[in-house]
Amino acid sequence: MSKKTPSWFNVPDYDWQKKQAIVIGAGIAGCQMSWHLSQAGWDITLIDRNKKIANEASGNPAGVISPKMTSRPSLGEDFYTHSFQYTLDQISQLKKQGLEWHGCGLLQLSHYQREEKRWQQLKERDFKEDFLQLLDEEETSKVANIPLPYKSSYFPQSGWIDPTHFCNVLSGDKHCKILLETKAIHLEKQENLWHVLDENDDLIAQAEVVIITNGKDLTQFKQTKNLPTMPVAGQTTLGTASEYSSKLKTVIGHEGYLTPADTKSDQHTFGATFDRNNDKPKITQQADKDNLAQLTQYLPEFAESLINTESAHAAVRLTTPDRFPYTGAIPDWDFYRKHYDDLHHGKKWKEYPKAEYQKGLFVLGGFGSRGLTTSGYCAKLLSNIITNQPFSNEEKPILQNLHLARYLIKALKKGLKVGG
Ligand SMILES: Cc1cc2nc3c(=O)[nH]c(=O)nc-3n(C[C@H](O)[C@H](O)[C@H](O)COP(=O)(O)OP(=O)(O)OC[C@H]3O[C@@H](n4cnc5c(N)ncnc54)[C@H](O)[C@@H]3O)c2cc1C
Repeated sequence: MSKKTPSWFNVPDYDWQKKQAIVIGAGIAGCQMSWHLSQAGWDITLIDRNKKIANEASGNPAGVISPKMTSRPSLGEDFYTHSFQYTLDQISQLKKQGLEWHGCGLLQLSHYQREEKRWQQLKERDFKEDFLQLLDEEETSKVANIPLPYKSSYFPQSGWIDPTHFCNVLSGDKHCKILLETKAIHLEKQENLWHVLDENDDLIAQAEVVIITNGKDLTQFKQTKNLPTMPVAGQTTLGTASEYSSKLKTVIGHEGYLTPADTKSDQHTFGATFDRNNDKPKITQQADKDNLAQLTQYLPEFAESLINTESAHAAVRLTTPDRFPYTGAIPDWDFYRKHYDDLHHGKKWKEYPKAEYQKGLFVLGGFGSRGLTTSGYCAKLLSNIITNQPFSNEEKPILQNLHLARYLIKALKKGLKVGG
C-alpha cells in the first residue's frame, strides 16, 4: 500500500475544547484506550455494563502475548510484530506499578505439514535471536523441559498474563473514573457533545470524545451498525498440574495454546475452542472435552498426567473479515457514499475531497483472538489520532489497514452499490 494517504483515509486535525473522553466497554481495548489517553493528560469516564471490568472476552484466566508470523514478510506480520514489541515495552513499564507478567517464552510447534513448511521458510529469514529462534525437536524439548517430538518457532520474549489483572492495572489511573453496571444504548450528538444514553434515554455521561470499545456488541449503535464483523465464541479449560506437567517451562502453541502451571493456583490454562457465528457464549462440557482432545492429540503424555480438568471461561471474540481490528474515527458514512461513489472509474485519489468523520466518535474493536497482543498498539495509534500526533511512514499503511471505511472503499472501487 502507498505511503501517501488517499483522501478517503485522511486523518483530520482536531481542536477539542477539553481533554475529556468517555470509553464504552472495560475489556482490554477500553482499558488500553483509557490508559493511553490518561497518559496524554485526558480525563476518562470508562463505563461497563457488568459488575466488574474484564468480564467478557478479556476475562480468561490466562492469555498469551505473542507475534504471528507469515512465511514471507507481510503487512499482517508487520502489524503483529509492532504490536508485540509495543506491548512488551508497555508491560516492562507497568511492571514497576505491580503488573505481573509471565515472560516464560512460547514454542509454536510445527505440528502439521503447512507449519513445517512455514518453519523452513522462516529459517531462511534472518531474525534476531531474542525475537525468534527456529528449533529442531531436541532443542524444542530442552526449552520446554518436557519431551516434544516437534520442530518449533521459539519466541523467547513471549509469555502469558492474567487479562483481568492487566485491565485493572491499565484502568487504575486517577484520571480514569469507572462506572460499572452501566449500559450504553444510544449515542446522540447535541451541540458539540456526544451524549451517552441508557435504555430510558437518560444521560449517562457527555463529552466531545466517545470511544466505542464494547467488544462483541460493536455494531449495536446506529453509527457502527454497518461495520462487517463476525462473532466467534470460545472456551478455555483449566488443568490441575501434575508432577510431570509442572515441568513445562514455556507456553506451547499448537492449534490452541497451553500455559505452564501458574505457581499460585497450580493450574494450566488450555484451549480455546472456536465456535463461529455464535454470539451467545456459554460454558459447556463438550468444549472442555474438545480442548482436552486437542491437547491429547499433540501432547498425549502431558494431557494424560493432568490431575483434574474444569471449565475456565467462555466468551465471544469479535473478528473482522480480514482479521485486522478497527482502529479510528467513525466515518460520515453518507459523505463517503456521496463523494466516493465513482471510485470504480479509477480517477486519481487527489481529485477527491478529504474524508469526513462523525467528529468525536471513535472505535477500537474487532480484535478477534489476538486482542491482548494487539489492542495496546492500536490504542496508541488511536490516541495519537485523537491528540493530533504525527504518524511515521511505517505506521501509515498499518493505519489504513485498520480504517473503519476499508470495506466500504473496497466495495465502491468495485462499483458495488452500498446502502445505508
Ligand atoms: C477463549 C478466548 C481465549 C483468548 N485467548 C487469547 C490469547 O491467548 N491472546 C490474545 O491476545 N487474545 C486472546 N483472546 C482474545 C482477546 O481476549 C480479545 O481479543 C479481547 O479480550 C477483546 O477485548 P475487547 O475489550 O475488545 O472486548 P471485551 O473484553 O469483550 O470487552 C468489551 C466490554 O464492553 C462491555 N460492553 C459491551 N457493550 C456495552 C454497552 N452497551 N455498554 C457498556 N458496556 C458494554 C462488556 O461488558 C465488556 O466488558 C482470547 C479470547 C477468548 C474468548
